[in-house]
Amino acid sequence: MVIKSRWSFPTPQVSLPTYIFDSPTAELPTTPAYISAKEPEKYSLSLTDYRLYAQRLASGLRRSGLQPGDRVMLFSGNTLFFPSFVMGVIMAEGIFTGANPTYVARELAYQLKDSGARYLVCAEASLETGIAAAKEIGMGADRIFVFDDGTATFEGRKVEKSSEMGTLRHWTDLLDSEEQGRKYAWPDLRTDEELDRVVALNYSSGTTGVAKGVMISHKNYVANCSQQVHMSTLAPDFEQRLPHKRYLCFLPMYHAMAQAIFCCNAMKLRVPVYMMPKFDFLEMLQYVQKFKITDLILVPPVVVAMAKHPATRKFDLSSVEIVGSGAAPLGREVCVELERLWPEGQINVKQGWGMTEVTCAGTVFDPSKHSDSFSVGEVVPNGEAKIVLDDEGKVEAKRGERGEIWYRGPNVMRGYWQKPKATKETLTSDGWLKSGDVAYVDEQGHFFIVDRKKELIKVKGLQVAPAELESILLDHQEVQDVAVIGVTINGNELPRAYIVPQSSAKATPETAEQIKKWLAERVSRHKRLEGGVHFIDAVPKNPSGKILRKQLRDQAALENAKA
Ligand code: AMP
Repeated sequence: MVIKSRWSFPTPQVSLPTYIFDSPTAELPTTPAYISAKEPEKYSLSLTDYRLYAQRLASGLRRSGLQPGDRVMLFSGNTLFFPSFVMGVIMAEGIFTGANPTYVARELAYQLKDSGARYLVCAEASLETGIAAAKEIGMGADRIFVFDDGTATFEGRKVEKSSEMGTLRHWTDLLDSEEQGRKYAWPDLRTDEELDRVVALNYSSGTTGVAKGVMISHKNYVANCSQQVHMSTLAPDFEQRLPHKRYLCFLPMYHAMAQAIFCCNAMKLRVPVYMMPKFDFLEMLQYVQKFKITDLILVPPVVVAMAKHPATRKFDLSSVEIVGSGAAPLGREVCVELERLWPEGQINVKQGWGMTEVTCAGTVFDPSKHSDSFSVGEVVPNGEAKIVLDDEGKVEAKRGERGEIWYRGPNVMRGYWQKPKATKETLTSDGWLKSGDVAYVDEQGHFFIVDRKKELIKVKGLQVAPAELESILLDHQEVQDVAVIGVTINGNELPRAYIVPQSSAKATPETAEQIKKWLAERVSRHKRLEGGVHFIDAVPKNPSGKILRKQLRDQAALENAKA
């Protein structure tokens, strides 16, 4: 049975910049929109500044020869200029791609190469990695720019760097003057074909294999944003509360969730965002208290930390009105624990479910209703979902029955960048996205995510693709064959490798440790084998060589039960 959203309305037929800023010249607020949480008095940008920096970048990128459809990569943690950067590339008709700032050179090189980025704009602090990656794929110094933490740009300093590759220019070299920026009019797109143009490649491994560029269009972003804005308006006293709303952003903006919420939704609603370069638990609590943050957009590990850590009780969190969580599974019990931080009835933690492939969210919990379960809510406006029991989606589950969740709506990606086969395996010809998540739906249309059918592992809300780890591990001299799965230890999902050793004599705890360390040198922190290395005689596979991960997951569950 197909469950259609309770809400429907036409998706605005405009480009993303027009949706957020109305027009290149419209009068916009000049009050702070992005504010440095660390130095709020000194560093902030208004919505007018957000647009102007984006226009200056767009104008400069075009002057530098950027062609429509060219990819531009930003490799940086959050800064106040991050949103302007994203939007500037889009206004220039380029395609933005953000890389995880914790990437090692090999990971970055993969995304640089896969996206075919024309420019790499790299945080000053990560230049070593950026240069190593650029060298690996033969990218010259003329295509690399230095991005700063915001302070240099505000102060008009150009952080040029001499490197082994030559001098690297500061990203502000790509900015045209304020006057030129003001005159830059991004294209006024109206037709379906124009609005289907790709504006971002957000990387995700999807249901199988290594990371792929998820093609997100103007329409996808506008649809997702209008869905989310509509849901926000359903909250009790929304109109009265809106002028006082304040968000805190510590989730990484290279990822779909923070990009959609903080670069788009917040600005459409004109809600100021206090920005943190990255997550820090105690700083986050301090900022909630100091800036009287009203809405907390969290991921499960932060919910758990807030619920359990004694430090939380030392802060005044009374300004908080809304707490939401997404990106990974979260039980109801810990939400109840978190809710106890506030007087009864003030906070009800609500969950949503999403994927990079749906721009951000596929289901959300109606803010006017009370959640008393781990449900991820209902289908977002203009969307529909079904639970299917077979790979072709022909057999649909009954209410309450578990199966794979398929989603269809205007926020579904255009496909995977230059990966037609993977696209075909994930998107059906009639527009359904196969999520790879296992869920059921109740009589009220509430969805419950209960398992994952796909390979993907999520560590603290961050993606880990088993296929990537397996291909690296196969290069280790002691590894004959390997399968990586996610195991849950103390409520945290962690990668574990099941390894067939080259010789059984090497199946020792020392070799396991050595392999763990060896891998840790080659991947970002969240991909480390913190779930352990276990030796086995053979990796279970089906006749066509596909790893039977379910069998290993069952084995892991047994091992964990015994431990
Ligand atoms: P990403 O593309 O990085 O956003 O990851 C998407 C995946 O995260 C989904 O396919 C789910 O497996 C998982 N996920 C997202 N939200 C939830 C949620 N609320 N509950 C359980 N899993 C979730």
